[in-house]
Amino acid sequence: MATNTQEQQTQAGRHQEVGHKSLLQSDALYQYILETSVYPREPEPMKELRELTAKHPWNLMTTSADEGQFLNMLLKLINAKNTMEIGVYTGYSLLATALALPDDGKILAMDINRENYELGLPVIQKAGVAHKIEFKEGPALPVLDKLVEDEKNHGSYDFIFVDADKDNYINYHKRLIDLVKVGGLIGYDNTLWNGSVVAPPDAPLRKYVRYYRDFVLELNKALAADPRIEICMLPVGDGITLCRRIK
Ligand code: SAM
Ligand code: CA
Repeated sequence: MATNTQEQQTQAGRHQEVGHKSLLQSDALYQYILETSVYPREPEPMKELRELTAKHPWNLMTTSADEGQFLNMLLKLINAKNTMEIGVYTGYSLLATALALPDDGKILAMDINRENYELGLPVIQKAGVAHKIEFKEGPALPVLDKLVEDEKNHGSYDFIFVDADKDNYINYHKRLIDLVKVGGLIGYDNTLWNGSVVAPPDAPLRKYVRYYRDFVLELNKALAADPRIEICMLPVGDGITLCRRIK
């Protein structure tokens, strides 16, 4: 019989159907991806943070391990140095970012909830990457407004990951487009929103899914029509739309 710890570890490694960590047609296929190429290469601190987060009551919010692996490689590919994250939770995507950046890389990380960030912080510190992170507690929008006020912040970010309040994504985009550099990337997370973007109007959706769906639909339309960016929507995790600023 599995011990409690073994059981918890197995749980942490299994993707949860209710978590909508993947929109792939088959759960078995997703599990195959995790077991064949994600978990065997997951850095130890990320594994530790993932297992710690799995015990938290809001664990559905965490970035999935395959998306963490994707972000980590993406950041290395674009040689990102100065980055931003809106929506930290316990810090899984933040750690994936911090591990990818050079030693003098920087991440401005924002969340209205410091407590959850502090849950993961000891793991981030142990991984030796906490010095790259500046955490700001509070709503992100006023911070962005302040940054935009100062011209020297314009075009200064290589990568920005947006994974917070979906009803503000369009507001974030208006500011972020000035802050990201030409050639840099903004990643908007959850743009397939539990697959609900294609659900019929009378589909039985959970309340929060239904509430945010229209905002996600609006965002997707706005991004597709924005001539200042090139876009690529990837079915990784719950959908991530990469926007490359071109002017
Ligand atoms: N990226 C995280 C990870 O890898 O675990 C997951 C982020 S979770 C989906 C969304 C986070 O956005 C929550 O921690 C929540 O507190 C935060 N949030 C919600 N509204 C916010 C706001 N207005 N400004 C900043 N953060 C906000
Ligand atoms: Ca997310």
